[in-house]
Amino acid sequence: MFKFLSSDPLHDPTATTTGSTEVKTTTCYMCACRCGIRVHLRDGQVRYIDGNPDHPLNKGVICAKGSSGIMKQVSPARITQPLLRKPGSERGAGEFEPISWERAYAILEQRLSHLRATDPKKFALFTGRDQMQALTGLFARQFGTPNYAAHGGFCSVNMAAGMIYSVGGSFWEFGGPDLDHAKLFVMIGTAEDHHSNPMKMALGKFKRGGGRFISINPVRTGYSAIADEWIPIRPGTDGALFMALLHELIKHDLVDRPFLQRYTNAPQLVVLDEGEREGLFAFDPAAGAPGDGRNPHNKLAWDLSSGRVVRAYPEGVEDGRLLALEGHYTLSDGTRVAPAFQLLRERVSKHTPEWAAEITGIPAERICQLARELGETALQQAFELPIAWTDAWGKHHPRTQARPVAFHAMRGLAAHSNGFQTVRALAVLMSVLGTIDAPGGFRHKAPYPRHIVPNYRAFNDPDMIKPNSPLNAAPLGFPASPEELAVHADGTPLRIDHAFSWEHPLSAHGLMHNVIGNAVRGDPYEIDTLLIFMANMAWNSTMNTMEVRQKLNARGADGEYKIPFLVVCDAFQSETVAFADLVLPDTTYLERHDVMSMLDRPISEFDGPVDSVRVPVVEPTAECKPFQEVLIELASRLKFPAFTNEDGSRKFKDYPDFIVNFQAQPGVGFLMGWRGKDGTQHLRGDPNPDQWAMYAKNNCVFQYHMPKDQQYMRNWNRPYLDFAKEKGWRQKNDPVQLAIYSDTLQSFRLAAQGKSAGRQPPDHLRERIATYFDPLPFWYEPLENACVDQQRFPLAAITQRPMAMYHSWDSQNAWLRQIHSHNYLHVNPRTAQAAGIEDGGWAWVTSAWGELRCMVRHSEAVEPGTVWTWNAIGKASGAWQLAPGADESRKGFLLNHLITDELPFAGGRISNSDPVTGQAGWYDVRVSLRAAGPDEPAQTFPQVSTWPSLPGLLGRGTRVMNRFLSKKP
Ligand code: SF4
Repeated sequence: MFKFLSSDPLHDPTATTTGSTEVKTTTCYMCACRCGIRVHLRDGQVRYIDGNPDHPLNKGVICAKGSSGIMKQVSPARITQPLLRKPGSERGAGEFEPISWERAYAILEQRLSHLRATDPKKFALFTGRDQMQALTGLFARQFGTPNYAAHGGFCSVNMAAGMIYSVGGSFWEFGGPDLDHAKLFVMIGTAEDHHSNPMKMALGKFKRGGGRFISINPVRTGYSAIADEWIPIRPGTDGALFMALLHELIKHDLVDRPFLQRYTNAPQLVVLDEGEREGLFAFDPAAGAPGDGRNPHNKLAWDLSSGRVVRAYPEGVEDGRLLALEGHYTLSDGTRVAPAFQLLRERVSKHTPEWAAEITGIPAERICQLARELGETALQQAFELPIAWTDAWGKHHPRTQARPVAFHAMRGLAAHSNGFQTVRALAVLMSVLGTIDAPGGFRHKAPYPRHIVPNYRAFNDPDMIKPNSPLNAAPLGFPASPEELAVHADGTPLRIDHAFSWEHPLSAHGLMHNVIGNAVRGDPYEIDTLLIFMANMAWNSTMNTMEVRQKLNARGADGEYKIPFLVVCDAFQSETVAFADLVLPDTTYLERHDVMSMLDRPISEFDGPVDSVRVPVVEPTAECKPFQEVLIELASRLKFPAFTNEDGSRKFKDYPDFIVNFQAQPGVGFLMGWRGKDGTQHLRGDPNPDQWAMYAKNNCVFQYHMPKDQQYMRNWNRPYLDFAKEKGWRQKNDPVQLAIYSDTLQSFRLAAQGKSAGRQPPDHLRERIATYFDPLPFWYEPLENACVDQQRFPLAAITQRPMAMYHSWDSQNAWLRQIHSHNYLHVNPRTAQAAGIEDGGWAWVTSAWGELRCMVRHSEAVEPGTVWTWNAIGKASGAWQLAPGADESRKGFLLNHLITDELPFAGGRISNSDPVTGQAGWYDVRVSLRAAGPDEPAQTFPQVSTWPSLPGLLGRGTRVMNRFLSKKP
């Protein structure tokens, strides 16, 4: 229960409406999907929120969360003023004193300017699900610290990196299934979260149009409820299914051979001889250097027409060529080679449906049938759209070939320590069916596709961390070879989270989950100030939660905290706020400007780029300030070059001014609509001082429809590639051949095997790199399986994000907590009965790393070897302004307590993450179940002591109610 109760009705429907009313449009932020909303106000107060029918993303549709934004606005858990931990009080004791913003800025300015002038890497900035990583990343770069990342490392970086390194784009923000043209839709490893409203709308239309929808998931919830067929699968085994599907498709020649020959690296010749070129593509030295993954157009192929080797680009795709996909060949210098597709064929030859059935739990016959369905739908039910287009080599195609098989996948594949190679396997599966940027298949959204490998190197030069100097590259990027790792000469990591080190070389989104542990250990060095924005690292955004909470309080021999200064910016009294030394009160999304930018993660549609904004619809509450404003203010005070004029004065008045006037390249800013002095230019143009007003007048969104001939096949579409380069979305206009085979991965493997001349990993990591950096996709067991006794812990335990709540944000939302205020562990009845646990009964769940007590719900909608629960419903007592004894802390629980943040490795420990990308292995945990005893308390375990309320919370009940009812307090 909240700490307020009122007998007054909230709303009297018979009362006469008084006061002035108005409707303002902005963009929802009750989850990350970014739907357009209309906020209805009376006398300047929010009365209700509905979907904006004129918004291209959701077309008026709104979900429970979106319409409950009003209760976020008046949440009793809102922090309303900057707070400083009282001198002498302990972190977590909740003893804070309110301070002014000027004092907060002065504290930060003094501390950060000292760090910047002495050792910039001692400042670390890590953010949660923020939607302005172009700004937060710029801040870190200008500060001069490599220690920056957002939440991607513990969210779905495996999905992003696995797809981008293979096809140049990924699901959700960067691309998705074309359900307008698909006939078969396979959703695998996806809960009802990413791309929520648009997916619901697309699914409804798809089903009404007669499309067939197959859901493959351990759990049948959310979207899966309307699937034509549910195929249960064991968690962490999706990669085995993909390998068996590839086996069947190749065996029965259900592959799109012309597509593979022209648009992928399948025909490119791989060196088979041992040595430093082993496993890399043979290349033509006259067409460029050997290549590091960024120089893909000098490779060779075997032309069956002429019986000789040819350049794979551009000659290899000329009419009259017939590039070999199979066979073994010898080059004129005696080098033995084979097309990449031949190696894929050999790789999957042993991955029979029977092999995969043992691993996945899906019967072999069903796997064979699924492969037939996929292949026959893609190839035999194919059709063409009457859209002519021209490819990168100048060939005119009078029509566009559809491949009507679409997939959608997200965290269910990604959040495993084998996720990168699993996602690679899916990308290769989609590629052999020819469904990449084809009608009915996977389609990109601008600015994707990126180059493979994207032309964004992560910062990696230790000598460029210099006092009072920006870094010479952004902290995050996409390494293309060992030479681009962020390591010292001895191989030790440059970053506090060990991202881009030999431990996790392709960690494109950083490893936020490593920061606290490494900082406390001083590994690879100690830091001074950790600034956390919008991430609940002391609770649901961390594995091994109890130990992490202790680490936040850990002190050294000198009695000082190991992380000396912890700054938390949040709008609400989260569990993490309790540990802060300095608390900065953020606004809600209804109180601020924001951009969903082409420089970051826009809301683009398949047919062209779309960006959008938030504009304030109400004034900030009390002393709340948008975090963006805080960053602009600090950047100006600290005199970052990009924020300072030559005379030392500040360049930008505030965040809106920064958004309008900052240019990443001439004419390219954060927003692409209404540019130029009078707002008549789009996509690229000079800054427009009235740009915000023009967005506000136009539903807070700018949409550009590409001409029809540029809407498909964009990896190879000449006019699109030229256009994208001209508008600054790409650095080059060359085609993006799909990477069936990854020479980038092979370059890491060669280094680990000691076969290449450049950088080599430390000895204890050689075998790990050599194993997991396989240039062809493969399936391996999640890493936890090798560390635990699977007889003792026979069940896989996973979580899902609930439909009605986004991460931990919504337990302070009075409407949404009526939908669920606690969670259950959902268990198949057979499994529960075998453990003697009744429906609704209490049980102990034990992993190799910890145990918890929770309530169990019997459910047929989960396969017998899996148990699952909603994520982040359980709360620490007293957090989020929930009363002690609230359901969230007494009946709700976090599975995180059972998940380890580190695994044993080489006599020490290593992050419990994917060895390629550093993606947190949330879904790998193995557990056992037993019934709780009749005398045990009917309350979840573990519990934490109740945290007292913060000073100045909006919370005190009548104040909230009076505000909502527009009465004077
Ligand atoms: S799906 Fe997300 S962004 Fe869209 S209305 Fe719901 S909460 Fe808002």
